[in-house]
Amino acid sequence: MLSYRHSFHAGNHADVLKHTVQSLIIQSLSEKEKPFLYLDTHAGAGRYLLNSEHAERTGEYMEGIGRLWQNPEAPEQLQPYLSAVSALNPSGRLKYYPGSPLIARHLLRAQDTIELTELHPTDYPLLRNEFLKDDRARVARGDGYQQLKAKLPPAARRGLILIDPPYEMKSDYQAVVDGIREGYKRFATGVFALWYPVVLRQQIKRMLSELQATGIKRILQIELAVRPDSDQRGMTASGMIVINPPWKLAAEMEAVLPWLHKQLSPAGTGHTLVNWVVPE
Ligand code: SAM
Repeated sequence: MLSYRHSFHAGNHADVLKHTVQSLIIQSLSEKEKPFLYLDTHAGAGRYLLNSEHAERTGEYMEGIGRLWQNPEAPEQLQPYLSAVSALNPSGRLKYYPGSPLIARHLLRAQDTIELTELHPTDYPLLRNEFLKDDRARVARGDGYQQLKAKLPPAARRGLILIDPPYEMKSDYQAVVDGIREGYKRFATGVFALWYPVVLRQQIKRMLSELQATGIKRILQIELAVRPDSDQRGMTASGMIVINPPWKLAAEMEAVLPWLHKQLSPAGTGHTLVNWVVPE
């Protein structure tokens, strides 16, 4: 089943959280000259046209990136992320939204490598075309979870692995834990960043206890909710689970989350959270 299309959701509050965390991790990894790998298991199309029929139909980006874009009060922790959005919109009008691969492309250096996997028959060629002239990048059509076995550990022994499935199949909640277990076995010093939606809180609680049961240490949870938990349909919050986070990440997110929450939930509903699921 491949009915999920990210073009309906690009730039929404969940993307803002995910791409802020992604950008801060890349910024930290870039502090050392040594190269690193960026591996994106569920990469999407790469670029999203915000006035497309898909994006306009939901209007989600207007309540996400649309509220931060060119806000002069945006805290410094958002600068790497917002610089990637600006780079794609040189006219100063918000036309395109960069997915995680384009954010990485903007922030990575010449010595780094990019491995992208996407399964969808429409999104894969779009992604491949974005990277035709980038010799740091390899784009594959296939199953992202397989890459956690095939591509790890990287030659450089440093890297960020972003795992961002659509969760349209319930099995994704288990597949991400199995995938992380496999990836970690091969590359225990890597930074693993897993995105999750909060649709039913119980699913997230179960996923977190499965992750705890792996025995993996240094697991940080970052969450931003725009509404309280609910048993009705729809995503009320989203989060990132980061294994081996750069030492500054928890403090950076604690600093930026209150401001982000104010923009993304002007009525003040929901919450933010930075929590060590498993400490050192
Ligand atoms: N990471 C992207 C970003 O931040 O811009 C968004 C990814 S979107 C949430 C999830 C993507 O995973 C979709 O484009 C979907 O087609 C793709 N997908 C679904 N199952 C997959 C699988 N088993 N392997 C790789 N990609 C898959």
